[in-house]
Amino acid sequence: MFAPKVGARARQEPRIHGLAPNLSQSDNRLRVLDATDIVRLVGEHVALRPKGREMVCLCPFHDDHNPSMYVVPHKQIFHCFVCGAGGNAIDFVMKFHGMEFLEALEFLANRAGIELVKRRREPEVGDAGGKSASREELAQANATALRFFRAILAHGEYGRTGREMLDRRGISSEMVETFQIGLAPDRWDGLLQFIASKSLGTSLFLDAGLLKSRSEGDGYYDALRNRLVFPIFDQIGRVVGFGARRMNEADEPKYLNSPESRLFDKGSTLFGLSQASRAIQTARCAVITEGYTDVIACHQAGLKHVVATLGTALTPKHASILRRLCSSVVLLFDGDEAGQRAADRAHEVFFAEPVDVRIAVIPGGEDPDDLLKREGGVEALRAVIDGAKDVLQHRFNRLASRMAAESLAPGSAGRVRLIEEEIDRLVELGLRRLSPIMQQTVVRRITDLAGVDSESVSAALRKRGVGPRRGGISEVAASKPAAMVSPLEHALGCLLLEPGLGSAEPDLAREILESAAYASPPVKAVAEAFSAAIAGEIASLASVLALLEESESRQVAAALAAEVDRITEGQHARLVGHWRQCVQRQRLETMRRPIAGDGARNGLDSIREAIERRRRIHETIGSDPLAIPRPLTAAPKS
Ligand SMILES: [Zn+2]
Repeated sequence: MFAPKVGARARQEPRIHGLAPNLSQSDNRLRVLDATDIVRLVGEHVALRPKGREMVCLCPFHDDHNPSMYVVPHKQIFHCFVCGAGGNAIDFVMKFHGMEFLEALEFLANRAGIELVKRRREPEVGDAGGKSASREELAQANATALRFFRAILAHGEYGRTGREMLDRRGISSEMVETFQIGLAPDRWDGLLQFIASKSLGTSLFLDAGLLKSRSEGDGYYDALRNRLVFPIFDQIGRVVGFGARRMNEADEPKYLNSPESRLFDKGSTLFGLSQASRAIQTARCAVITEGYTDVIACHQAGLKHVVATLGTALTPKHASILRRLCSSVVLLFDGDEAGQRAADRAHEVFFAEPVDVRIAVIPGGEDPDDLLKREGGVEALRAVIDGAKDVLQHRFNRLASRMAAESLAPGSAGRVRLIEEEIDRLVELGLRRLSPIMQQTVVRRITDLAGVDSESVSAALRKRGVGPRRGGISEVAASKPAAMVSPLEHALGCLLLEPGLGSAEPDLAREILESAAYASPPVKAVAEAFSAAIAGEIASLASVLALLEESESRQVAAALAAEVDRITEGQHARLVGHWRQCVQRQRLETMRRPIAGDGARNGLDSIREAIERRRRIHETIGSDPLAIPRPLTAAPKS
């Protein structure tokens, strides 16, 4: 087996820079990665579709309008060819959910049903140990409280009033299970006693907003009392907070939500998303409503692609979560004026997103829950959703009725002023980011509305930087990083993709890995991890990624492999050809570089080493039977 010097050193010193420092830790990550299929994982978060041997999707890590992210099943990596995001399953979870490394590892372990080997004693739930609680700890406290609330609802005596209320509201037992509905008992110390009986600390429950401090004297009391409790899950199924509806109509307010915490951000959470996400992907459409009882009523009626905001307006974060899952969003509102205003704000959030946004208004001011309770309500609601108007139409209808109300004649100064204001607003909302076709549609509609010729509308748009010349260029494409050009990086990518090249041509591989010692820190770390991997068991891209400590290095490794995979289209012969060509070009590059440049930073020894390295390369060139004739005959001779 091919075992280069770098690898031998790595075996003796497992703590070399950039490599996993801890054995149980690297064991954990290998077990978790073995049990995780990246295609399924990514597919649970964004809509994937097959393209050749790979799967592609809109990249969730930049403002992507064409699928730029590739998931490579046979290598278990993902890589975005535009923003460069990439790595293995752990990297995906870290980036997507903004998790720490250990949090992501834990999440994937839970998902795969794997018990992690603990490094040290983990603190008990409820004991934040004086430091601020981690999100995982808050989620555990919420999960503990949920077990309590669910046990109360199921209890023969204490849960009766809650079950009766659910019956009256027509919520089926299946929905009680699906949405994990519970009941907070009618007392000040229900949860508090439960926590005490489990010998748990109170601090996490305070942080999660489930307990409150007494205003006089010591001690705590339950924040939620005598309320139906609706847990709010994040997309990965953690309980991040609770919504609670009063049991007694005299209690205020009608609905209570958990306070925001490190774990719970209302502006990026949608009620029902974890239950709806499959249906949203299947239907390629999400329906957004306003209340959680509306969501439950819709799911019960078979409309399972419905979610709700949590008492906040829609935010760009909501929009970006949904556009990863589907291509079309219907905003479902009650017909009253407040609903109309909410609709106006909401479609502004979605205006420049690459999703088709439509607005559906239920006539008569009923909410979906009321409508569904009526005879034929399900069909009526479906008809409302199917009849949703596209957002531009909705916007321009409102503008047209305003012009009519102010009796502004077509072409009049007042009408032109309104149109100019509208154009300014659209530009603010991101008109420049729309596709050229959509921009044309906007021009046409404004022209019709204004009663002026299309050239003056186009001129007004060009004045604001929107138009055929600049408008079509996506801002992302402009910031696209330069393509990788270094033959060293390509050669390393070949090795990562097909580690067998290393054992087939060990001298060439050693040369590349040694050259990498002079490359940028992430590339150097990738080469070291590769050496360590082939020095040990059978090397694979997965084992190299698992050895890399820095996520930047994993991103580089995934990018190198994905780039070479794309060029060679999965054909072994092309890969071998590309590999030899890159090795050859790398030799030329090494010789062209001034020697002082190699070693100036590290002093005389490195310069000697660099000269020695170069001498060896010169010896190899010309005698190496694998060498391809050099395209540049002017390369210097020693
Ligand atoms: Zn990207």
